[in-house]
Parts: sequence; structure tokens; C-alpha cells
Amino acid sequence: MRLKHIDDNWVVHAPAKLNLFLEVIGKRADGYHDIETVMAAVDLHDTLVFRATSSDEIVLRCHHSGSHPAGNSAPDFVPEGSENLVVRAAELLRAQGKLTSGIRIDLFKRIPAAAGMAGGSSNAAASLFALNQLWNLRLDLTELQQLASQLGSDVSFFLSPSPLALCQGRGEILRPIHSPARLHFVIVRPESGLSTALVYKHCVPEPNPRGAEGLIQSLQRGDLKKACELMCNSLQRPAELLNSEIHRLKAAFSKLPVCGHMMTGSGTAYFGVCQNRLQAMTAAARLKAWGLGRVFVAASPP
Ligand code: ATP
Repeated sequence: MRLKHIDDNWVVHAPAKLNLFLEVIGKRADGYHDIETVMAAVDLHDTLVFRATSSDEIVLRCHHSGSHPAGNSAPDFVPEGSENLVVRAAELLRAQGKLTSGIRIDLFKRIPAAAGMAGGSSNAAASLFALNQLWNLRLDLTELQQLASQLGSDVSFFLSPSPLALCQGRGEILRPIHSPARLHFVIVRPESGLSTALVYKHCVPEPNPRGAEGLIQSLQRGDLKKACELMCNSLQRPAELLNSEIHRLKAAFSKLPVCGHMMTGSGTAYFGVCQNRLQAMTAAARLKAWGLGRVFVAASPP
């Protein structure tokens, strides 16, 4: 993440993620699940703009690209109060630093919500990262990651310098993965979203969970074909039972010349892995014509 200072504003981009592998190992006593997942940050991002104010309030305004969500039952609805992870991150950091400073935050949303792309978690990580500097708190990465894990399982990933990582525990134990090549994706977010909690509730952990090592080695060798053969997501089956749009997307992606395809996280977004940007753009044009949802082309950072 990089923070830019423009006049009185501090600007940071918060990337989305895709899961290339997700195995649910088992349910824990604290209610969370132990998982093993490979996450890739992509260049589809939200933008957060921070401005110091003279009041002691934390004020968040969300701005949506395209049509504004119709109401708080719309899948892309994002709250602006203390339920928003951006506000929670600011409150947590402010308490940690024993500050009373206020802040105005403008959040420009592009990452679809309730899509399995961790927009909220990424926004929270961006807020911790930016406010640590803006408020001159000087917390190091370990201290920020400790706060991140209190906000959500995926938040730590976005603070890590590696855009590709194996994430274990409930997602907060990270091991960076070095891949020689950029990964190119085409992504569709159908009309509806899915709640992460609901999908996990319907997921039965595998008695013999698969490991991610084979996929990781393929990514490290730059063997895209093998990596795609080893992609899997154990949340896809329960998500398909809860939402028929995912099955429809799977059938549509099967007709496309992509290297591999799968649902990300707890859905509902579905992605294809492509050889290059041209293949991703060509697939995107066909998916748009089929009218299956909002279509994005994205890549892992260079
Ligand atoms: P994950 O992959 O981590 O499960 P997701 O992509 O399925 O996440 P998010 O978009 O991160 O889901 O958020 C899910 C819900 O969290 C939203 O429907 C919204 O009500 C709430 N939320 C809180 N803060 C935010 C935020 N900053 N951006 C988006 N959603 C937020």
C-alpha cells in the first residue's frame, strides 16, 4: 500500500483479493473456522481519502461508482456508521494511540460488496495503514497486524508487503509466495451477493483436507496450467446451493477459453484465470454480452 499526500488530503488505494485455493479445515472453539487459503491481491481497488478536521468526530462518506445501491437491503449497500470496518479501524487505532483527533474519510467504492473479494477488510487495512502515518503513531507492521486481526480474518493480508500469500489459521497467519509472472483475471459479480457467515454455516469441513503446497509450487514455477488444475474452493458447493447464479456462472465460464475458473472466497464473485490481458478482455466482452452481472478485468500487481 502506498499513501499519497495531496494538499490537505491523504490518498490510499485498497485492493480487492481473489482466493486461488480455499480449504476449510475445521470449526474452532471460538466460532471461526481454520482455513488454508492462497490469496492474490489484484489491481481492482477502492480509494480512500483522509482529511484531518477540527472536530473530534470520525466521519465516513461512501461514494459508489455506477448506480447507487437502492437501499440497505441491496447487495452493494455499505454502511457509513460504526458498522463500517473503516470507522472501526479508525476507532481502534485512535484508542490505541490515546488520541481524540477527528477525521473525515471519503471512500470511493469499486470493489463489489458481499462478493468474496474482501473489500471491507481491505478498506480496514488501508485505514490502519494511512492513519498510523497521518496520526504519527509509528506502529510497526507487527503491531498493525495485531490490530488488523481484531477487525477481521482477512485484514492482515492487505497489510503484508506480498500481494500473493498462503494464509492459515483463520486467515491471519501469512506466508508470502513469490510468483515470477503477473496473473490476469476476468471476474463477474452477479446481481446478488452472499453473506460470508451464511456460507460458512452451510459448509461441512473436509475430513481429509487438501493442502495448498502443489498450487504454491506451480505458482512459484510460473506453471499456470498446473496451478489452475490445483485450484479449489470448498465454499463453492455450499454457495452454489444457496445461490443459483454461481452455478450459472460456472456453466458460462466453462464455454470460455480461460486457463481455469472458480468462485472466490464465500462468493458470489466468480473468476477466470487468463494467459494474458488480451485473453481476459476477450472473455470479458463475451461475459458482458451474456448479461450475467458486472464484469471486471484485473491483474496481480507487477
Ligand atoms: P470477505 O471476502 O472478506 O468475506 P466480502 O467481499 O464477501 O468479504 P465485504 O464486501 O468485505 O464482503 O463486506 C461484507 C459486508 O460488510 C457488506 O455487505 C457490508 O454490509 C459490510 N461492510 C462493512 N464495512 C465495509 C466496507 N468498508 N466496504 C464494504 N462492505 C463493508
